[in-house]
Amino acid sequence: MSIAASVLDAVRAEAALHGGGRVTRAGLRIGELSGVEVESLRFCLEVLVADTDLAALGFEIGIVPWTRRCRACATVYRVMDAQPACTACGSGDTEAAGGDQMELSFLELEEEP
Ligand SMILES: [Zn+2]
Repeated sequence: MSIAASVLDAVRAEAALHGGGRVTRAGLRIGELSGVEVESLRFCLEVLVADTDLAALGFEIGIVPWTRRCRACATVYRVMDAQPACTACGSGDTEAAGGDQMELSFLELEEEP
């Protein structure tokens, strides 16, 4: 629940920055490694927005794949089957490139008449 609450805080803060119109859609990007369960997050969000000013809000949740960057050949690749070695050159000298984030990707607001 606390993750959903912080998502809604972020939505409200972002909407305020854009003049406070009614938010109709929000996009979220959730990394594969973030440990967030998308279905339970979606459920919590729907429960939290019911009967609030955000009741009409729809969420579009996208999963961000787990990726790493190879320090030897600079390839950014998706980690499959939890094998972290570079898929291009096989090097084990790699660093995290993505997949643990949780962020807003977009908001759609309804302009006040
Ligand atoms: Zn490589």
